[in-house]
Amino acid sequence: MDSGANPERFKLELHGPFCLGCGRPGRVKERRATMQVKPDGRGGAVRYLQLRVRRECWTPGCRFWHRSWTDYQPGDYPRRKYRLELALAVVEALGEFGSTLSSVARWFGLNRRTVGRLIGWTKGIDTVEGAAMKCAQVDPTVLPPAEPPAPNPPRASRPSAALEKLFQARHLVLLLEHLASLLRGHGVALEQGPGLVVLLRNQFNRWGEVFFVTDRSPPSLRIPWPPGSPAS
Ligand SMILES: [Zn+2]
Repeated sequence: MDSGANPERFKLELHGPFCLGCGRPGRVKERRATMQVKPDGRGGAVRYLQLRVRRECWTPGCRFWHRSWTDYQPGDYPRRKYRLELALAVVEALGEFGSTLSSVARWFGLNRRTVGRLIGWTKGIDTVEGAAMKCAQVDPTVLPPAEPPAPNPPRASRPSAALEKLFQARHLVLLLEHLASLLRGHGVALEQGPGLVVLLRNQFNRWGEVFFVTDRSPPSLRIPWPPGSPAS
């Protein structure tokens, strides 16, 4: 693992309720309800409470004795207040004609700063060039999608830095969708869902690497390629 993450910690995190050392269910150490936001499937968002459970090994002699971990449920992505799907929905909504940072923030019940952060986070998953190269690595015969047209043409001759970030995030979303579909077409088993979401979850499930909003993230997106390659 080259991200600086602690692989052993992630292995524990990935093990659900059972301790990796002794195989017994960990003792519940803490239950905490956290507010989450997710898309409602109709273009808006809903808020809901999610219970996060921390467990610890309570078996004397186990190498993980007294070590604790978060019991992540399938589909969870660690240490994020917002679900991956929400970042995607925000970037997509900003691609619609007439939308602004403020209108999208209002629509999803977020503040403008959060919307800006989600765009920056999406853009930070990979560079457009890097994602296009990964597509070509999987299948060099298919051209990756070009940058989507700007829904609101910038008034100035050069788009602002914020707008440039949004363009890159939108393009990256398309490329990740394309990459996921290429991988599926070439025999890589990915869960159902949008490219951005399934590729990031795959990276977490396989390598324990998480793209944080405010914390240090792995250097770049990894692709599970070629199929059947052993997880590190
Ligand atoms: Zn144990």
